[in-house]
Amino acid sequence: NDTALSPLLHNLNPEQLVAVTLPAEHALILAGAGSGKTRVLTTRIAWLLQNGYVSPGGILAVTFTNKAAKEMKTRLSAMLPVNVNGMWIGTFHGLCNRFLRAHYKNAGLPQAFQILDTQDQLSAIKRLCKQHNIDGERFPPKQMGWFIGNCKEEGLRPKDVVASDPDTRKKVEIYQLYEDQCQREGVVDFGELMLRSYELLRDNTAIREHYQRRFRHILIDEFQDTNKLQYAWIKMIAGQGSDGLLNGGGGSVLAVGDDDQSIYAFRGARVGNMTDFVREFAVQRQIKLEENYRSYSNILDSANALISHNSRRLGKNLRTAQGAGEPVRVYEAPSDFLEAQWMVDEMKQLIRDDVERKEIAVLYRSNAQSRVIETTLFNAAIPYRVYGGQRFFERKEIKDALAYLRILENPNDDTSFLRVVNFPARGIGARSLELLQDEAKATGCSLHDAVSTLTGRPGALIAGFVAKLDVLREQTADKTLKDIVTLMLDQSGLLEHYRNDREGEDRIENLDELVNAAESFVMQEGFGREAPGMAQLASAPNALTQSPASQGLSGDALNAAPDEFGDTGETLSPLQAFLTHAALEAGDNMAAAGQDAIQLMTVHSSKGLEFDCVFITGMEEGLFPHENSLSDRDGLEEERRLAYVAITRARKRLYLSHSQTRMLHGQTRFNLKSRFFDELPEECLKYLTPKQQPMPAGGGFGGSWGNGYATNSGAGRAYSTGATASFGTYSAPQKEVARKEDPTGLQKGQKVFHAKFGEGTVLTLEGAGDDARAQINFPRHGTKWLALSVAKLTPVP
Ligand code: ATP
Ligand code: MG
Repeated sequence: NDTALSPLLHNLNPEQLVAVTLPAEHALILAGAGSGKTRVLTTRIAWLLQNGYVSPGGILAVTFTNKAAKEMKTRLSAMLPVNVNGMWIGTFHGLCNRFLRAHYKNAGLPQAFQILDTQDQLSAIKRLCKQHNIDGERFPPKQMGWFIGNCKEEGLRPKDVVASDPDTRKKVEIYQLYEDQCQREGVVDFGELMLRSYELLRDNTAIREHYQRRFRHILIDEFQDTNKLQYAWIKMIAGQGSDGLLNGGGGSVLAVGDDDQSIYAFRGARVGNMTDFVREFAVQRQIKLEENYRSYSNILDSANALISHNSRRLGKNLRTAQGAGEPVRVYEAPSDFLEAQWMVDEMKQLIRDDVERKEIAVLYRSNAQSRVIETTLFNAAIPYRVYGGQRFFERKEIKDALAYLRILENPNDDTSFLRVVNFPARGIGARSLELLQDEAKATGCSLHDAVSTLTGRPGALIAGFVAKLDVLREQTADKTLKDIVTLMLDQSGLLEHYRNDREGEDRIENLDELVNAAESFVMQEGFGREAPGMAQLASAPNALTQSPASQGLSGDALNAAPDEFGDTGETLSPLQAFLTHAALEAGDNMAAAGQDAIQLMTVHSSKGLEFDCVFITGMEEGLFPHENSLSDRDGLEEERRLAYVAITRARKRLYLSHSQTRMLHGQTRFNLKSRFFDELPEECLKYLTPKQQPMPAGGGFGGSWGNGYATNSGAGRAYSTGATASFGTYSAPQKEVARKEDPTGLQKGQKVFHAKFGEGTVLTLEGAGDDARAQINFPRHGTKWLALSVAKLTPVP
């Protein structure tokens, strides 16, 4: 059997080979970026399967993003004829969701429980606070969301939180109310997926032991970013640790990580889990991989030099056999707008040189930076794709449509009910809904079930809504997912609503895209094109797919309960699976899916990925490192790890850029270049613009602003005014960015004409000179940001 895989094993270096072919024992791979950690993890799964050391059902593999999970499955199926869709490969959230679907009864959840994303959670908390007259100033819903999330990540239920002061006691009370509400409505948030899975494993011996027997090999990528609860979950499922519940009969854990890439401390990630793991699992073997296969040495040396400024490191080396490659290019722009312009010009050249657009990535520290880049790309007609930000599944009309689908799936989903009961408008007033909510609260039932208690016209209207959906639910029971979505869009009145809306065109496009999304989801997930709505799904027969009996269930009392222990990948209806997908993977800009497009994302979401060409933009004090981190050493070290992650994404060419001025939150800010530049080896860099002089001792913002840029607004000169020598940024008073000689002569409220978008109205004006931008509402195309130096606008009298 070994020979069949030998081409695979031949492509590994000796350390990687050792890691791939380890015996069944706990092990840690601690290695730097691009050293093949993820490749080792994937190849090991293939190797274990190929040699019959484990069945596909005996593997549990945890990745950090859905994108990574998808990639792992693709690579595995390229290596082996295995049904990867049935395998337990996914993110913690994805896997916990699947686990809870399989054991919904034991977990105390309805079969069709829905997942609240962060926004849904926020509106659920708002609703609750209103109902219970909770002071929104003192307990802002957003902060309550964080509080609840943090508690859950620590594994704390309301009763477990130690509340010593009245404020905390109140918060705990709200937490409890929130829990009750979620339970009543049959919904769970992200934290709950994880915590409830953990509790179920902890409290249910039969289930726990089943999974401990089942998963012979547990593999975890990006282990440095696991939090406390996730680590506890791993211990539980691997039957390892000191909790007295653990029989030592669990599988082997292979943890893979890089302490230098730990970038989620702010969300509770604990690098300490790596050392705890070695101790608590009595890890005998720690493997280091020191050869980087991703980047040329100018890029790698820059990354190594940078990270060497961090003090708390576990320590490891990284080298590359590839040559020096091109130097790292450094660019200084007068404004963020010109930075984007330069970048787009550079991209055009790359594209002319035959670089694929998807091999070009733009990374930024904060989401807010993307807008100016998007506008510039848009104006240059270069397709791009944004990861994060305003995501497809988070757009209003999509969320409305999903709410309808969720009610079809679960009539008791009150959050969705309230979202669309009067949208499109059906004359149902806030007062009637309050009555309905009171009634539901009094009887402890869902809004759907409380409808019959309402009388009069309001009751009739709401009952009409409910009846309509009940009918639709029956109509769609045996339909394909695509047909369900199409019928829903029609019957709900959503399409008609937006057809009559002057600004509805984009929204209709998005709703159409939802139908496409549904169709391609069904195809990609291997549900089979004609899979009926609620029927059981046949999984593709496959030599390597194991029947439940061969997954260690035979001769076991548990075997008698296929419902309980069946593989949920096969019992979710396409609609349920699609809704789950929408909630979990709200990270994809579907409109551009599949198209060769420039990749835009935050540094955080670039983890684990690689691209031929990478632009890291906004390398400025206050932005990167972020201003919140400047005062604290741990914070600064985390920023440096982020920069390390960003730099190590590049294979061939890396650009680092910074801008003297930047428009953020409606203010022009004057930024110093990032301190991280001073930590890079000069010999690896190439300055595309004259290098900024070092700051003169004793103050001033450096004397090099007049380095040849024509900023006709004069905004760049504002430095002489009151700037102090301290690091960081300062916000110039608005008047200093005066729009005195604005050549466009535009005004707020003015009507303008654009060749592509037609007539529109100016909503906002920002910046000046080359940097001037306007936000314009075009009735037929929605609101756009346009750069005035590029966009051809004619004032309409
Ligand atoms: P990160 O820390 O960024 O997640 P990683 O350690 O997981 O990186 P991989 O993504 O697995 O690294 O590998 C980096 C690149 O190097 C990939 O393109 C991979 O295919 C390639 N690679 C890994 N090992 C080898 C090898 N032995 N020979 C050739 N290429 C390799
Ligand atoms: Mg990786």
